[in-house]
Amino acid sequence: ADASDDRGTGGGLHLRSLTKEFASFTAVKSLDLDIPSGSFFALLGPSGCGKTTTLRMVAGLETPTSGTITLGDRDITWEKPYRRPVNTVFQNYALFPHLDIFENIAFGLRRRKRSDVKPAVEQMLALVELESQARKKPAQLSGGQQQRVALARALINNPEVLLLDEPLGALDLKLRRSMQIEIKRIQTEVGLTFVHVTHDQEEAMTMADTVAVMNAGVIEQMGAPAELYENPRTTFVANFLGQSNLIEGTVVGREGDVVTVDMQGTVVSVPTARAHLETTAGHRAWVGIRPEKVLIAEVGEVIDAPGNSIPGGVISDVSFVGVSTQYLVRMPWGQELQVFEQNTGRRRLFRTGESVDVSWRPDYAFLLDHEQDAS
Ligand code: ATP
Repeated sequence: ADASDDRGTGGGLHLRSLTKEFASFTAVKSLDLDIPSGSFFALLGPSGCGKTTTLRMVAGLETPTSGTITLGDRDITWEKPYRRPVNTVFQNYALFPHLDIFENIAFGLRRRKRSDVKPAVEQMLALVELESQARKKPAQLSGGQQQRVALARALINNPEVLLLDEPLGALDLKLRRSMQIEIKRIQTEVGLTFVHVTHDQEEAMTMADTVAVMNAGVIEQMGAPAELYENPRTTFVANFLGQSNLIEGTVVGREGDVVTVDMQGTVVSVPTARAHLETTAGHRAWVGIRPEKVLIAEVGEVIDAPGNSIPGGVISDVSFVGVSTQYLVRMPWGQELQVFEQNTGRRRLFRTGESVDVSWRPDYAFLLDHEQDAS
């Protein structure tokens, strides 16, 4: 049978109250997660947040303290690793050095005594674009090529779910970027569920259609990359995915779809859809705004995108970085805001020491809880 016969037919991966304790330390805390079949899912978080432990429980390499793992309607929580329709690609490839590329990829099929090895391996070689390398040994390939062999070797077993544990961690930045696109292409082509673990937010956002941000054993927020970036719910997510200006304020009130906030003496508004806190008057808040969403203008200059406007800024640093210019603007309350301006060539650069006004469109800001979240 064709190796791709029953791909992508599973009913998705579901984790229920999944918990892992190591002695008195809880690495994964009652995780609930639904990963749709055929999706490219990324588990993103800093070192030690529990993402690898979660992946290892799905692979069967670690036993949960409690909770369940189901694939479609099949409970695999206690199944032996080799019985699960799950394969893992690790950072260190784990290729057999004495076997050539063809035999590395064929390994799983030969062990299961399959007769259709040659066409299946050739299909995989084509998928990862290594047809011309079939008779080389792993040591004769580059890091990126070796990682593609590891991918082919896992995919030939026709798993329902492919787990990728920091698979690009050993590659240099440029190769990482091209492999990210490559793995995304392969996932689209085979249509399997990919679960990718990484601490690199740019990698997660580039590759995955859904990203779960993990912190200290729990998932803080999950969604499409743009949703997480534009509408973070916690200060952790706001700071872990890109950069954010977080400005202290207190809630004034709520009128229709808008929350008004006294932000250091200026009243600004934020849509309720981006307000992740109690909106009672006096509640302490963080007003969040991404650096590229902030506009700077000469004092008195009319800005054509009216919105939250705050006077009294002074440019305190200018960094020209090619595609953009990155400013620091010291505000009257002493905080320095980061402002990224695209270098379109249509505007002059501001200079250090210049007085400016800053503003942003209200629907670009978000509002976070400053009472629960002390960071
Ligand atoms: P990294 O990217 O550094 O691997 P991670 O988010 O994948 O981080 P995990 O490897 O899942 O984190 O580990 C989560 C926590 O559990 C860490 O604090 C780690 O020290 C702890 N831990 C993991 N495995 C064990 C173990 N076998 N015994 C005790 N503690 C462990």
